[in-house]
Amino acid sequence: MYSLECIDCGNKYAESDVVYTCECGGLLDIIYDYSNINIDMEKLRLEPPTVWKYRDLLPIKGKHVTIYEGGTPLYKCDRLAELIGVKEIYVKHEGLNPTGSFKDRGMTVGVSKALELGMKTVACASTGNTSASLAIYGAKAGIPAIVLLPEGKVAMGKVAQALMHGAKVLSIKGNFDEALSLVRKLCDEEKFYLLNSINPYRLEGQKTIGFEIIDQLNLNVPSRVVLPVGNAGNVTAIYKGFKEFTELGVTDHVPKMCGIQAEGASPIVKAIKNNAEMIEPEKSPETIATAIRIGDPVNAKKALRAIRESNGTAETVTDEELVQAQRDLAQLEGIGVEPASATSVAGLKKLVKQGVVQSSETVVCVTTGHLLKDPQEVIEACDKPIVVDATIKAIRDAVFSK
Ligand SMILES: *Cc1c(COP(=O)(O)O)cnc(C)c1O
Ligand SMILES: [Zn+2]
Repeated sequence: MYSLECIDCGNKYAESDVVYTCECGGLLDIIYDYSNINIDMEKLRLEPPTVWKYRDLLPIKGKHVTIYEGGTPLYKCDRLAELIGVKEIYVKHEGLNPTGSFKDRGMTVGVSKALELGMKTVACASTGNTSASLAIYGAKAGIPAIVLLPEGKVAMGKVAQALMHGAKVLSIKGNFDEALSLVRKLCDEEKFYLLNSINPYRLEGQKTIGFEIIDQLNLNVPSRVVLPVGNAGNVTAIYKGFKEFTELGVTDHVPKMCGIQAEGASPIVKAIKNNAEMIEPEKSPETIATAIRIGDPVNAKKALRAIRESNGTAETVTDEELVQAQRDLAQLEGIGVEPASATSVAGLKKLVKQGVVQSSETVVCVTTGHLLKDPQEVIEACDKPIVVDATIKAIRDAVFSK
């Protein structure tokens, strides 16, 4: 049992309602009766490591559509910690989900809910990863998926996934924010089920990142969690997970939530720095990190609250800084991520330099998507392969050349 509650006016909706936002326009939150939920972390360890082991804190009671999402590794990164100058850095590598991004955690819940509500078609706008994820769960559920992508601004690996898994892929001559506003209209008119992160069921799946971090740190709470922010759903979701664990007595406090955006697409960071109640949407967001190339994040209000309530912070990084962090993760730790994901590490580096993060802290960086999502960016960021004649001499010359 749970209710959908408006974060602005408190209006409530039922489990069976097909709603994404309140009549007043406010975002919806899913609220459980926590006094009736018991979480035994020892017992949970015996279960398969997927999102669904936390089913008592998920809003689906019946059948669910799963491709074994979640249960991603939390790597202790000593070489990165030494480089950045922090006692302990852990990386939660969400690139190791079924499609290679954390979006799978939200979609397993979202598509399960679509079936429960009897919806016949699912749809989303996407900077890429949401479309890949919707495509696989649509395929598994046996219902059509429609995805709207901003033309020319989606990394190749993501389009490839959406196409091969059978989604209807539309390339919109506009940016992500425009695609999202169009798909919202389409869903209202055609009774398609909208699975962008404005849909609160998506966030319920994604909050399990928070649960897993606490579990993997043996119930210790890191001082900070740093992650990229685009549409601002994930920072909201992970914070909700941490808060629910305090509600249930699993932990006694929450980590500081730190949201990182690219300099060219940073409405959340600006709002935090200006102490503004709401964001100013940006008309032409631009960054190499296409997954977070978003100027008007729909979950802004929830995200600002998560960052402020947790005593966290927000910072920008340049494209150059995030590509350097992508290299550091790859070459110091063996962790391959797409550009947006590297903003977490680039942001942490900057916050340490600024003295905002202390060297004594234990920090978790979330890397949201896999390196192979955006092979084009990687080819451009790295030296070309060395072409040599097929002789041992030519190979030796190349191997030992400076
Ligand atoms: C979706 C996505 C983000 C941004 O997450 P939001 O919930 O929209 O803030 C960051 N990185 C990657 C790789 C993503 O796919
Ligand atoms: Zn309302």
